[in-house]
Amino acid sequence: MYDYHLHTGFSYDAGAEASIDLMVRRAIELGLDGIAVTDHYDPEFADLNWSADLDFPNYHATLDRVVAQYGEAIDIARGIELGMQPGEPNALCAAAASDYPYDFIIGSVHCACGAAIDTRAYHAGRNCKQAVHDYYDDLLRCITEFGDFDVLGHINVIERYIDGTPHDDDFMDIAEVILKKLIDEGKGIEINTSSFRYGMGERTTPTPTILRRYVELGGEIVTTGSDAHRARDVGAMIDFAEQMIRDAGLRYIATFKARKPVMIRL
Ligand SMILES: [Zn+2]
Ligand SMILES: [Zn+2]
Repeated sequence: MYDYHLHTGFSYDAGAEASIDLMVRRAIELGLDGIAVTDHYDPEFADLNWSADLDFPNYHATLDRVVAQYGEAIDIARGIELGMQPGEPNALCAAAASDYPYDFIIGSVHCACGAAIDTRAYHAGRNCKQAVHDYYDDLLRCITEFGDFDVLGHINVIERYIDGTPHDDDFMDIAEVILKKLIDEGKGIEINTSSFRYGMGERTTPTPTILRRYVELGGEIVTTGSDAHRARDVGAMIDFAEQMIRDAGLRYIATFKARKPVMIRL
């Protein structure tokens, strides 16, 4: 099994329980075949309570060290989760993507319309339907402006921050445009199992319906990730994500080496 979405102490929202050594050792203890360390870089993050910057030199030196130290025991991909936003932040994401060598880059949206999607600033004046719509709108704009990523992170993450569950009709049209664009550009999606930690259960990101649509449209590149921010969540529900992939009719999961997909038969 592969956990291709892990945060360590380099991420602003992960603490001491997520030192990179603890995370890697936990993955080895679980017998995972491989992981991607994907710490946050969210340039111009809209919630000023957080600095979503990344200490790049130290991050890469540490990745080199853990690959040398644990690389015999587990396959470790050098990754990053880039927080996209229209304009200057996307330009900074593009610079970050080319400044250092990566195996794997997740492009994610954590801020839409200039506000962090988990804050009152975003939801004030928007009902659920509008909150979902504006999120997807910004997401489409981001992936039109910025394309230097390998998989789109947690496509329907906005559902974590609204009351109730949106109806598929509220977003499926624009989600399809996004999925088609990803497929045309040879990009993948991830199945992010953090929904189980956020009380959304089997409404994973993506949902089985969105995943099926991606496959029906011709998509084949799907990674699996827990989005763990502490050691005890490493590998959580990855078996569930693998079953989702089988149920959607795919026989492979994607891993990455030097930004190229390496498909692993399930
Ligand atoms: Zn994220
Ligand atoms: Zn993440």
